[in-house]
Amino acid sequence: CGIVGYIGRRDAAPLLLEGLQRLEYRGYDSAGVAITGKTGGLKTVKAKGRVRELDAKLPKRFAGTTGIAHTRWATHGAPNDTNAHPHLDADGKVAVVHNGIIDNATDLRTRLIAEGVEFRSDTDTEVLPHLIARSQAPTLEEKVRDALRHVEGTYGIAVLHSDFNDRIVVARNGSPVVLGIGEKEMFVASDIAALVSHTRQIVTLDDGEMATIKADDYRTYTTREGSRTAASPETVEYE
Ligand code: GLU
Repeated sequence: CGIVGYIGRRDAAPLLLEGLQRLEYRGYDSAGVAITGKTGGLKTVKAKGRVRELDAKLPKRFAGTTGIAHTRWATHGAPNDTNAHPHLDADGKVAVVHNGIIDNATDLRTRLIAEGVEFRSDTDTEVLPHLIARSQAPTLEEKVRDALRHVEGTYGIAVLHSDFNDRIVVARNGSPVVLGIGEKEMFVASDIAALVSHTRQIVTLDDGEMATIKADDYRTYTTREGSRTAASPETVEYE
């Protein structure tokens, strides 16, 4: 339902929760956040209910300057803590938040289970972190492109990987994704409402397009070929 991501120098968690709150008007049943930082590793907290429930569950020290967050409107699997996003791979290195519906999730899941993957949730989304983690491609961008080659359906996704923690990779197919270009910091969201308190410089992804954001740099490219696309920011008006 709602996606927010941040990479920069500030503590990500408060910014991500503020972003989620700005998306509350859309309605949702659960929320979650994954953070990484210089010290490596991924930390994840998820909660059924409102963003304030998630906020109350965050440990006192939840530091990290890179993170992704989600509010979920359940389509596959009951609204509960486990099915809340982000979803992780078996090693807890890849975190994915997803809006939309993966149509062939049952097939992908059956195949992954046959390969020995243990699923934790009932969501369609969880196939994504497993597919990304199992890709042999060398870069995070190629791992995500590899995974998406198997996927049919709609998605707006944001991906965090603890081995590539200088970036967030996002992709769009049928669910909106926008980038917010800041000063030595970048935002991503499913809706500009989550960004406009920080920046008015926005890049809107097209279907079939992906982006990599780093603290001081971003690039967009096609999901299929990985070829660069033009992406000059527009200045948006917003009340
Ligand atoms: N299909 C996913 C799920 O049920 C994502 C739902 C959403 O867009 O929030 O978890």
